[in-house]
Parts: sequence; structure tokens; C-alpha cells
Amino acid sequence: MSLFATLPLLPALREAVAAAGYVEPTPVQARTLPPILEGRDVIAQAPTGSGKTAAFGLGLLQRLDVAGVRTQALVLCPTRELADQVAREIRRLAMAIPNVKLLLLSGGMALGPQLASLTHAPHVVVGTPGRVADLLRRQALAPGDITTLVLDEADRMLDMGFEQTLQEILEQLPRQRQTLLFSATWPESIRRIAQAALHAPVEVSVTDAISRPEIEQWFHEVETADKAGALAALLVAHQPASTVVFCNTRRDADRLSDTLRELGCAAAALHGELNQRERDEVLVRFANGSLNVLVASDVAARGLDVKALDCVVNYELPGDPDVYVHRIGRTGRAGSTGLALSLVAGREMPRALALGEHLGMPLRWAEALSAGSDPAKLRPATMRTLRIEGGRRDKLRPGDLLGALTGDAGLAAEHIGKIDIFPACAFVAVHGTHADRALRALRAGRIKGRRFRVSLL
Ligand code: AMP
Repeated sequence: MSLFATLPLLPALREAVAAAGYVEPTPVQARTLPPILEGRDVIAQAPTGSGKTAAFGLGLLQRLDVAGVRTQALVLCPTRELADQVAREIRRLAMAIPNVKLLLLSGGMALGPQLASLTHAPHVVVGTPGRVADLLRRQALAPGDITTLVLDEADRMLDMGFEQTLQEILEQLPRQRQTLLFSATWPESIRRIAQAALHAPVEVSVTDAISRPEIEQWFHEVETADKAGALAALLVAHQPASTVVFCNTRRDADRLSDTLRELGCAAAALHGELNQRERDEVLVRFANGSLNVLVASDVAARGLDVKALDCVVNYELPGDPDVYVHRIGRTGRAGSTGLALSLVAGREMPRALALGEHLGMPLRWAEALSAGSDPAKLRPATMRTLRIEGGRRDKLRPGDLLGALTGDAGLAAEHIGKIDIFPACAFVAVHGTHADRALRALRAGRIKGRRFRVSLL
């Protein structure tokens, strides 16, 4: 019998869990769901990829009174991307409960439609702290009936300077409520928030990201000047389909992504200086298989949708061991083996020593193999991305794009990958060998009877 069957979940939630293909609870779910379903407050140390979203999602849906048109659950996330992912997972879990209204309230989205949607109170709000506080101040969002509060990736929210905003929100919520706090790390500031917001919480720590056998961790001693070559050689040797390379500075990220591209690698940089359009583009291309390597700073990688990351590279060791744990926790998800590689220059050795102590295990060192590696053997990206200058506002749906490509353009459905529709633009992943043909066809033809500007990224 599955462990899920032993939990007192509503039949509709049991059905959604089965439909999502979740056979057994993850360790975080196994340890947090029982107290969550009992209505206890929970503080859990759980990294991204641990299945924490379903843990709190099931908890808040279990308590929901759908007949009551009141906001009953509030989930706060550090970034728009994460809020988006969380909303999607909760919607999926709510699939078998009729008429659940969930509203995404994150910054970076137009305020008008959010105000309009709030005229009918949603049952569940998922949002970022700044926007939620703003809507509370405008009295557009009524907090009086909130019975479940979730602080997701709480350490990230504090890192991003949301402590004051969180306090402001907390003050307006009913005291009688269930509060669930999830955080990859537990610095002192998290303990402070926990003390202020949680009542007699059950503490669950699943720091298995550190010692999880499914993450293979290797350390390579390489001097700074040789790192780019060593990295390319490692990518050739391991052939990962998706890699995030973490750099400590934005300049390093830019430079390294240029070097990798020159070597023929499908790489791009993700850092704070990109505008929203560029950022969306890079994230979409990485998620749809048009980019194999993302060179990122820690800040920029927050909220990155990284379901199945094959490999994480520390181009330099971070000063804080918790950052290392956070980074490598993005690989080795749900049953698949992950790979974490660290390039360590001589002057970074003290950091490596401190890290080994923090992890409580000896680091595994391997030769850096740069000589004799052939960059032509870098894994190519399988997909290319078409950008269409039309989106949800033009009522474009994935089916319209799929129809245009498989109809007039004559592509087979299996040559078309992920389709992402944004308010004003859309992205379609097309198998590399068919990308030019798809571009010509979309430029020459119509989508939903209209012409749109199309480009190949
Ligand atoms: P999260 O840590 O919430 O971002 O979840 C990581 C991934 O694990 C998501 O893609 C979930 O859909 C997936 N997931 C969550 N719970 C389970 C489960 N019990 N079994 C398998 N996959 C799961």
C-alpha cells in the first residue's frame, strides 16, 4: 500500500495525487503531511525539488471551504517565477475539487486585472510579498478569513529584503491560523520570523540535499585562468542536457557564457542586468531544450524552473556553505541522479576545507581534464525557439500554434516541443533540424487568421 493511502487525505486530493503520478510521498511530504493535516504549524527545512509544494498545497486544499467565497489561504513566495510554479502545482492538486478559485498576485504583472479579479474573493492567493502587501493596503485583498499561511523559500524572501513587508502582512492576518514555513536553510533570521509567526511548530529537517546519494559531487582543482577550458572538457565528458553554472559575479557569468558560446555550446547568461523580456527568453529557452547551459548568479537563478537539471557547476566555490547546498539541491530530483561539479582554484582551498567540515564528509577530488578534449563533442541543443509577437492578449493558445505548424507548415507534432504563451508573446520549441522551415512557414502563413511577427532565437 502506498504511504499516501495511509494519510487522511480527502478523496478528491487522493485522486489528484494519483493523477499527478505521485506514487509515494517524498521524504519531506512523509514527514510534514501528518502534522500539516492535523492542523499543526510546521517549520520545514526543505530544498527546492523536495516536493514541498505538494506538501503545503495538499494541506491548504484539505482545509478549504469552497462554498465560502472568502480568501482562506495565502502562499508567499520570493519570486514571480516561483509563485507561478507554486500556483500551477496547487491548481493541479485542486483539479478534482470543483470551483476552487486561485489567484496569482505577483509583482511585475499589471495591477488592474488583479484588482478586477479580487472583486470576487479567491479561495487561495499565491503571490510575492510586495504585491500582496500593496493589495492589502488598498484593501483589495481581505485577510480576515485566512486560515492557512505558507511562507515558501522563506530564507530567499529574507535575503531579498522582504522582512519588513512580511511583518506588515503578518500583522493583518488572523492569529487563529495554521502557518507553514519552508526554507532551504535556517539562519538566525528565519528563527526570528518563525518565532513571530508560528505557534508551537513541528520542526522537520530534511537536509538530504547534503548527503543525498543521488547527487554525485566532484571537486576539481583548476587555476582560474584554466577554468573555462576545464568546464568545457567536463561538459564534453559528462554530456549533460541541462546545466546551471553558478558564478559569483555577473561579469564572470557574462564572460563565461561568451566563451562557452564561442566553443559551440548552447549557453546563455542569466543575471540581474537582463530586462524582463530577456530574462523570460532565457528561461523559456533553457526549459524547452534550446539551451543546454545557463551561466547564472545566485540571485538570478532564484525561482528558476529546474525540474530535471542534470548538472550543477560551481565555477567558484561560494563563501557560504549553505549557498553550496542550495545550489546543488537543484540537481538530482525525484529519483534521477544529479551531478554537482566544483572548480576550485588554489586560493579557494580554505573555502573547500570549510565546506567539507560543514558537510561532515570528505570532498571527492578528481583530475581536471582539459588537455585533449574536443569542443566539437559538446552536446548540441536539440531544440530551437521561435518567438511570436502575439500572446494571451491576442487570444493565442498552444493549440493555435500547434495547428499552424502541423497544418500549413507540414511539421509533425513530434518535432514540436514546449509552447509557452505570455501576455504579449509566445514561444514554440521546434526540433533544430526543422526550425528554419517552421520559421518560413509561420512568416508566410497566418495564425488564427492573423499575421504575427516571428523570429528564430
Ligand atoms: P517542489 O520541491 O515542490 O518544487 O517539487 C519538485 C518536483 O517533484 C515537482 O515537479 C513535483 O511535481 C514533483 N513531486 C512532488 N511530489 C512528488 C511525489 N510524491 N512523487 C513524485 N514527484 C513528486
